[in-house]
Amino acid sequence: MDAARLQRRINLLGPWLRRAFGGPTVKIGLDAGLGCPHRTGGTGPGGCAYCPPHGAGAGHGGTVEEQLATGLERLRARSRGRPTPRALAYFQAYSATNAPASTLEPIFLAAARHPAVAGLIISTRPDCLPAETWELLAALARRRPLWLELGLQSAHDATLERINRGHDLACWDQALGEAQARGIRVVAHLILGLPGEELEQTNATARHVAGAGVWGVKLHNLMVLAGAPLAREYAEGALALWERERYAQGVAQFLARLPRSILVHRLAADPGPDPLVSPAWAADKDATLAAIAEAMESNHLEQGSLA
Ligand code: SF4
Repeated sequence: MDAARLQRRINLLGPWLRRAFGGPTVKIGLDAGLGCPHRTGGTGPGGCAYCPPHGAGAGHGGTVEEQLATGLERLRARSRGRPTPRALAYFQAYSATNAPASTLEPIFLAAARHPAVAGLIISTRPDCLPAETWELLAALARRRPLWLELGLQSAHDATLERINRGHDLACWDQALGEAQARGIRVVAHLILGLPGEELEQTNATARHVAGAGVWGVKLHNLMVLAGAPLAREYAEGALALWERERYAQGVAQFLARLPRSILVHRLAADPGPDPLVSPAWAADKDATLAAIAEAMESNHLEQGSLA
């Protein structure tokens, strides 16, 4: 019901996947064990302020081939006699380009060569992409559908500093340019409700990614997860989080500023393996999606209406 309401107003990923791959398509989350350069001995101490011990969490342990086998087996079991959905190998954990290209190549090829894998998704930081890695990604993208999920979170350098991202907007813009020069699709990861940000800032971020020409966006609200640096600030009462209605309004305003051609990959996130500290409402994704549909309808907004 809410999916249909949202689909009327937003260019959602689901219908695009069905068209592009000829049927239902499911992501299999993988952890290639590459870690993140920003968490340990990299560009800054302790990683991003919102990042919990398990990062985004993904994979079921073992090699990429083993994780794929486990994920595919679960897919088949869930399908119960219906055709098994196509699988996308989703290198989701931490920063999935955090190794020399010579190390990454066999890892990504193990997925690209798998007969059940229809495409690859690689999630990383903009400062973790040296020239050889770009060439590897370009070669993979010629062989299989591929997109890169590139963390930005905010287009405001003051916010990026506040949340200890360890890179600025110019760095992200440059990485996007490298991808675009090679025809690699980029999805921008963005968080609404970051410390010090109001609708004015998130609307400006929307304008930036729209102007930069991203292929897709992935949104979620700021969540405090156990073990993340922000959990300490939250416990000290130094952090104000957006309510669900405010987030829904923020998403509606954000999407209205994106051209309809940009694919919306996510509107709300699951907390992941680390316990959710706050806001409690983030645990109910369906209610958040309903609130976004309501915010768009009541304000007569749809994706692109203010672009
Ligand atoms: S959010 Fe991503 S880039 Fe930031 S510390 Fe965690 S894994 Fe690294």
